Amino acid sequence: MSNKINELAHEPQASSLALFGMFPEELKELMAEHGQKGYRAMQIAEAIYRQRITSLDELTTLPTTLRDELRAAGYGVGMPEIVQAARSVDGTERYLVRLGDGETVETVWMPDGDGGERGDGSEASAEEEEAEGLEGNLSEFSRETSGHRHDRRGPMRGPDLRNVGALEANGYRRATICISSQVGCAVNCQFCLTAKLGIKRNLTGGEIAGQVAAVLNRHGVKIGKDRINLVFMGMGEPFLNYDQFIRSVQLLVKQIGIPESRMTVSTSGIEPAIRKYAQEPLRPKLALSLNASNDVVREQVMPITRKWNIAQLLDAVKTVPLGKREWVTFEYVLLGEVNDQPEHAREVLELLAGMRAKINLIVWNPGPGIAYTQPKPEDVAVFQKMLIEAGMPAYIRRPRGRDIYAACGQLKRTVEEKPLVEIQAAS
Ligand code: SAH
Ligand code: SF4
Repeated sequence: MSNKINELAHEPQASSLALFGMFPEELKELMAEHGQKGYRAMQIAEAIYRQRITSLDELTTLPTTLRDELRAAGYGVGMPEIVQAARSVDGTERYLVRLGDGETVETVWMPDGDGGERGDGSEASAEEEEAEGLEGNLSEFSRETSGHRHDRRGPMRGPDLRNVGALEANGYRRATICISSQVGCAVNCQFCLTAKLGIKRNLTGGEIAGQVAAVLNRHGVKIGKDRINLVFMGMGEPFLNYDQFIRSVQLLVKQIGIPESRMTVSTSGIEPAIRKYAQEPLRPKLALSLNASNDVVREQVMPITRKWNIAQLLDAVKTVPLGKREWVTFEYVLLGEVNDQPEHAREVLELLAGMRAKINLIVWNPGPGIAYTQPKPEDVAVFQKMLIEAGMPAYIRRPRGRDIYAACGQLKRTVEEKPLVEIQAAS
């Protein structure tokens, strides 16, 4: 792809009403207001969600007069815009994404998955898990640590390169996009850099889904050919922006074309929202940020535990129906000496006994002004081994993009700390 992002005319977004984010029914109403037939709405939806155009000028299926009319009424495409990018040595890219009102969030691109590999749901669909088999987790660990994770590539789709997606053409199997749901976060977890921002505002469903569209454009991703996973694990607490989060899922699945089986939402534990989520017809996989093995420690690291304790959260999680081969993921950030000792592993096993659960162990990523320490590698190894030996699948998440502050809990709209590379199109 050429340097598309730089070439495109940037519509003045601040005052624009965004078409991106509207459902086809809403576009139909808009067209009716302009005396237009319903098929015009379908043309707009096709252009903004499938072709992922970024300016009204590219909406060439509409007559110029109608485009002018929309512009005069204050409408623009309104896809969020990548304004800065930083690339990690491991291929991860972190973007500063500008929204219509000038606010910014961060979005992360991780080619080849994020190392959660079946552990956080960001990777395999159920079919893939079946094909690959749920082998012993110790071997998963050794594959992770020995660096031979990708030696079991599936069959390539044939020699015709015109028919392969952008990822495969670049030697990747898949990519995971980590998206933000709020500007900042109100939850105040003590180990997380995003918490330091406080909460500025919620994102709209269009802004959440739009981060994905902007990143897909940057990499020339072909939906249907490239394998894309989404994790709602960027800035913010998706379940405190519930309706817009659900709206974004509907846009992403039905309009952009990414199946919900390839999406995982992570929550710090908003009990009523988890119960509501259990009733949703269209639902990504669920991950709960457990992060402690008892309420005393959890209150200390995640003060929100005072509102909903671990038992309440687990009860709520149990109401979420699981697909045939689906497991609930629990994320567990290992903080040195705080929650990483053998007694904590034993408590985790007691808590989750009888649940179809798997655990993603995340070695804490440091951030300025946060007074935790990283766990010792031997403590991490013992913790994982204890879980696995008791029959609990446990994976160690490979930190991605730590050098550019793109790893879990490091997103904070970094503009100042590290030099960011100028926007450039992906190769
Ligand atoms: N707000 C949601 C989703 C975003 S955070 C949530 O809290 O679940 C995504 C994951 O990153 C969570 O599991 C969180 O516990 C973890 N995390 C936050 N800060 C971290 C840090 N500094 N190092 C490692 N993981 C962190
Ligand atoms: Fe918010 Fe999640 Fe960070 Fe907690 S870990 S402050 S919920 S983004």
